[in-house]
Amino acid sequence: MDVSRLLFFLKTLVACPSTTDTHEEAGMYREITKLLSEMEYFRANPQNLMLHPIPGDKHGRAAVAALLEGKGSRTVILSGHYDVVDTIDYGPFQKHALDIDTLGKALDPSALPADALDDLNSGGWIFGRGAADMKAGLALFMSLIEQMSQRPDDINGSILFLAVPDEETNSAGMTGSVEFLTRLSRNRGLEYVCLVDSEPCTFNSDGSYNMYTGSIGKMLPLIYCFGREAHAREPFEGINPNLIMSEIIREIEGNPLLSDRYGDIFTMPPVNLKAMDLRDGYSISTPSASACCFNMLTYRRPPGEIISVLKETAARCFARAVDTINTRIAKYNSCSGGTIKELAWLPRVYTYDELYAVCIKKHGSAMESQMKDFLESRAVRDMDWRDATISIINQLHSFCPDRAPKIIIALAPPYYPHVTTDGRSPGDGDVLKAVDLLQEYSISEFGIPIKVNRFFDGISDLSYCSIQDAGNVINEFKPNMPLWGHSYSIPVEEIKRLNVPGVILGPWGKDLHKYTERLNKDFYLRIAPGLLKYFVYALLGMDAG
Ligand SMILES: [Zn+2]
Repeated sequence: MDVSRLLFFLKTLVACPSTTDTHEEAGMYREITKLLSEMEYFRANPQNLMLHPIPGDKHGRAAVAALLEGKGSRTVILSGHYDVVDTIDYGPFQKHALDIDTLGKALDPSALPADALDDLNSGGWIFGRGAADMKAGLALFMSLIEQMSQRPDDINGSILFLAVPDEETNSAGMTGSVEFLTRLSRNRGLEYVCLVDSEPCTFNSDGSYNMYTGSIGKMLPLIYCFGREAHAREPFEGINPNLIMSEIIREIEGNPLLSDRYGDIFTMPPVNLKAMDLRDGYSISTPSASACCFNMLTYRRPPGEIISVLKETAARCFARAVDTINTRIAKYNSCSGGTIKELAWLPRVYTYDELYAVCIKKHGSAMESQMKDFLESRAVRDMDWRDATISIINQLHSFCPDRAPKIIIALAPPYYPHVTTDGRSPGDGDVLKAVDLLQEYSISEFGIPIKVNRFFDGISDLSYCSIQDAGNVINEFKPNMPLWGHSYSIPVEEIKRLNVPGVILGPWGKDLHKYTERLNKDFYLRIAPGLLKYFVYALLGMDAG
């Protein structure tokens, strides 16, 4: 691979601003298209350079696809995201954040953490926003395509480059491109064998390099607690939803028993991302409802299993909140001589789907149309997805005939299904074989052992390339995510159709999303191109020698 071209692509891509979830991203797809259109192959085959506008996108963003056609139908997809997180964290050096030539010199050494300073002084690292995450990966793909496009007839198949927006925000780029990919495969007779995503990778302390044959899943369960209001003068007349919510947070936060497990690996435990009561302003009564949401990571658990674990947890927390108050009532009575009655509420936990069924049974289609209007209202559409989910539960609960204190469990966007290439899908075997060959090649060519990890733990677009429990998503997930089909959805059927195994094989990066984001130069210019090329050749059954 031509090192000067690779550096040119990297520098050009980094220099083009593309902060995620902004109009800047539209400038980025134009830049990528321009660079590709200057290649001789795409000048001769302009029909193979395609723009796919993301349907209904508020920023007018598009995915860029470039198809390098060789012989036969086997096709490797090389995909990455072109958005980056913003550059505010660079502070006084912000104007250099997108210039890989000047940023390193501009950074104030006294303000750098020790390891970043060592790397800066070594001269072996390229600093810049997106230099690692992941314009380096896109530049690598573009260089490989430029090189291979000089002799397309020698390729035993095709290479499809796909650059998508929005990975850092909602993955609207990838979810909005799945249908495009399946359509392209039908129209052009492409058989996708693997999707290679060049997100930045890491090294282990034993000197091995991490690649990944899957990606972790993520859900955002939202737990709504409905209490019984009481005047502060008579607090034992009700139950405070904030107490129920705090029991839930105490039980779930960082609890390894709620980690998901695949063989001997465990996800990080869940963590609370939001907790609030639903009262505007101040009142001398306790609030009527509260809500909290959790980041839950998955390797294996289907949505239904997570929901039932949360239901059990919520019931326990509800009972504990009532017990706590009853113990305190007894103590208060004994010291004050009072005769306050204990609370008699038993745990009530509904899923959103169950609550919906109860409400519709009572109110019928009139409620259904009111809920639909509410879901489609401007106010809900403009709201943050988590806040919108809370509002929708609140609205639905207003129809509920059961006014007793309760907990309602729903799911908020985004949702990233877990995926792993484990031999269960027909195409997995070929990919795993190519990974084995790559491990041998890496040792013999570079002396670097590759550790193959089942899951990339950083959340990635790989989540939308195949789906391992589509039926569960439709049956268990969708009915409990109120925004599904309104402001949010995932093209489950199209993902099932696409069903391409994916791997993450990228350059070596550090401190992603920080102002010390950097890319290792030697690995990038010498090793990563070799690994990528060998892997693509191995997938297509070609000799990379
Ligand atoms: Zn990334």
